[in-house]
Amino acid sequence: MTEQRQERAVRAAQRPSRLVILGHPVAHSLSPVFQNAALLDAGIPVVYDREDVAPDALTEALRRLAAEGAGGNITIPHKEAAAALISRCTPTARRVGAVNTFWTEQGELVGHNTDVDGAVATIRALVPAEASAPGDRSVVLLGAGGSAAATLVALSSLGYHRITMVARTTGRAHALSERLAIPAQVVRPDALERVVADAELVINATPIGLRDDALPMLVAMIPTRCAVFDLVYRRGGTPWIAACREAGRRAEDGLRMLVEQGASAFEAWFDVLAPRAVMWRALDAAPPTHDGR
Ligand code: NAP
Repeated sequence: MTEQRQERAVRAAQRPSRLVILGHPVAHSLSPVFQNAALLDAGIPVVYDREDVAPDALTEALRRLAAEGAGGNITIPHKEAAAALISRCTPTARRVGAVNTFWTEQGELVGHNTDVDGAVATIRALVPAEASAPGDRSVVLLGAGGSAAATLVALSSLGYHRITMVARTTGRAHALSERLAIPAQVVRPDALERVVADAELVINATPIGLRDDALPMLVAMIPTRCAVFDLVYRRGGTPWIAACREAGRRAEDGLRMLVEQGASAFEAWFDVLAPRAVMWRALDAAPPTHDGR
């Protein structure tokens, strides 16, 4: 048995005693909605809960979850802190510098990152395989935070290397590109129109449009051949994606990334294929959360 298969066998034998998403706040999270539907469908008698954990309580929460043999997800604002606190991280989590998925092996937490899988799945869905080679396509990425890190790793793994990062704090973008060893041109927002004119894929990895109708950029700036990926998701879609679709652009919000990161986590916890159609149906049927997401 290879080392990897041995690890998977051990993990499958140690299925999580419970699943939990840690965040602060976390009441709006849609993960319990589609993960509990998937668990029910797969006949796995495990419940997925939300746990609101303040930053100063994270260390203790992770210690307790390891003692319980739990697994789960980690969301804002804990992803980077968890990567520093969990000593056993997968190469992907170490590379991104953030943990969004964890499980317990022999009493110890293992941290992983499936946001990269979610971004890969969305980019693949948006940009047809028969289009030009990824290396020839110019990508514009807005933002330089945690989700931009996962998106950069996804782009690099798909073969994109003509990447421009647009950031109001350019130092953060330079630091991220250097840390990941993924070369990127870095520009300020006032250069947006110029760099987008040449783009075949534009990606929003900032929270713009999460709570109001602000757009990361005007649709008129976006060439007609260019695909649009908004990491933000909201019930009923984001204003940017609605405007882009109305203007005939290929465009996806962050829901596919959410489902795919969750499906990938499910597969890591249980070593069985995630029921993606069930996950999507559960999200379609979910009532709106208090903040509209
Ligand atoms: P983060 O680490 O806080 O980074 C946010 C980035 O956006 C920073 O570079 C920040 O710039 C920039 N920014 C914030 N407000 C801005 C504004 N008004 N104008 C220009 N730039 C602005 O956040 P994150 O974890 O990367 O998450 C970003 C968004 O991605 C979240 O709001 C969430 O909606 C979405 N997300 C979706 C998924 C999914 O599964 N679909 C997963 C993760 C995240 P400064 O450095 O200058 O502050």
